[in-house]
Amino acid sequence: MAAPRFFHSPLPLVGDVTLCEAEARHASNVLRLSVGAQVVLFDGLGGEASGTIATVHKRSVTVQLTARTDSDRELVQPLELVVALPKGDRQKTLVDGLVQLGVTRLTPLVCQRGVAQPSAAALERLERSVVESSKQCGRNRLMCISPPQTIAQVTQASAEPLSTLSLFAHPYGAATSISEATTDLRSQITAARMAVGPEGGFSDAETSQWLEAGWQCIELGRRILRIEIAALQMAAWWACLAKK
Ligand code: SAH
Repeated sequence: MAAPRFFHSPLPLVGDVTLCEAEARHASNVLRLSVGAQVVLFDGLGGEASGTIATVHKRSVTVQLTARTDSDRELVQPLELVVALPKGDRQKTLVDGLVQLGVTRLTPLVCQRGVAQPSAAALERLERSVVESSKQCGRNRLMCISPPQTIAQVTQASAEPLSTLSLFAHPYGAATSISEATTDLRSQITAARMAVGPEGGFSDAETSQWLEAGWQCIELGRRILRIEIAALQMAAWWACLAKK
């Protein structure tokens, strides 16, 4: 079985490190690791090292670093998901899945029918979920969660090179499927941005805003998906298409 992973940032090249209290509790109380156990530490910025547990107390665990094992497990073509966040626990489901699928950045979208504008405390909880999911799936770089943005802000920032694919999902009026929108473009496209609307959907004015900014409207099949499932479907599609 793979050695358990812990987040520690910044990660020195050699020596002993003391895990933060949350990580120490995970190691000692949850996994019940003891002195000598092999572990992996990562810093969320791409750095990874193997190590051995040197001391264990309830709230304090030290690890002796043994070797640097930096490994890039990111998507070669970065993906940003722009999402009108769902409520409550569904935010965690969204974040957990997006991290596992390799999404580079999540931008919460502020829109007319959006319900959940993330508070600072909620964003902090989501940041913690990013760390938890990265521990589990082996990602060494943390998915970035941007401050919430309006469609105007997102599309303004997308005066980007032609090599970035920009799609928004809307169940009505789009004849284009995600596979059609990505088929011919695979070779030239180096990055993508994909937007998902709130439970109430994008308003007509918002749909026009996306189209005027050059974003392509796509549909995701005959069923209406919940926000997080729509976002995960788009991310999974991209992760499968992405160059290895
Ligand atoms: N009740 C809303 C549906 C909202 S579903 C409406 O009638 O418009 C939440 C979001 O998920 C949508 O705004 C859209 O971005 C995405 N979505 C869900 N199912 C979809 C589908 N079949 N095709 C395209 N987008 C979809």
